[in-house]
Amino acid sequence: MQLNLPVPARALAIAAHADDVEFGCGATLAKWSAAGCVVNHLVCTDGSKGSWDPATDVSALVATRQDEQRAAAKALGATGEVAFLGAVDGELESSLDLRREVARWIRRLRPEVVLGHDPWRRYRLHPDHRHAGFLTIDGVVAARDHHFYPDLDVEHWRPTTLLLFEAEVVDHFEDVSGFVDAKLAALHEHASQLRSTMHIEVDSPDEEQQRRRFRRHEVDRMAVFGRQAGLSFAEGFKRIDDL
Ligand SMILES: [Zn+2]
Repeated sequence: MQLNLPVPARALAIAAHADDVEFGCGATLAKWSAAGCVVNHLVCTDGSKGSWDPATDVSALVATRQDEQRAAAKALGATGEVAFLGAVDGELESSLDLRREVARWIRRLRPEVVLGHDPWRRYRLHPDHRHAGFLTIDGVVAARDHHFYPDLDVEHWRPTTLLLFEAEVVDHFEDVSGFVDAKLAALHEHASQLRSTMHIEVDSPDEEQQRRRFRRHEVDRMAVFGRQAGLSFAEGFKRIDDL
């Protein structure tokens, strides 16, 4: 078991959808931001499936989710870029074209630590999470070597560490005691997802109870990881250093 990376100067979290970064590693990013790390977000899809309402205006939803992602990054204290690849939600593919885009962002932002979905997590249903995980890993490999994409206008870059969240095998923990509320605050910035993802019906009689239940669920996840690491609260990852 490994605990607490040195705070990186720059980190890049790559996810399928707006809100995945906050669920997967929000408290860790809040901790690093508070210590001076430049935290960047890269969201692969446009979030256009993120509503249960068939009458939703999809282009407005896409814009709303980008605004929410920027607000969530701010709630974490992140000072880096919030970038979007714009792939259609639900149809993300770990294609060569998108791998190139991910590699370009890694080269441009020069993160020491890259964070992303674990694509090998068993029985994971959502295809975007698998594909975003593969794009993250394949993008790291493509970014680090001169011979990949020599036509890209940016120098190659090799990150030091890859942390996979929602991991099949957890072997690294980040102590996030003191950053639980920052994670919750960032998650609540994804207001369009309150109903479909967080099961909170705004203005319903049960809203307060639903908010408490959601909070309890997220706090419990961090407490379970914390117990494994001998801490109050933690986030757990698969850590890969040999990049
Ligand atoms: Zn997602």
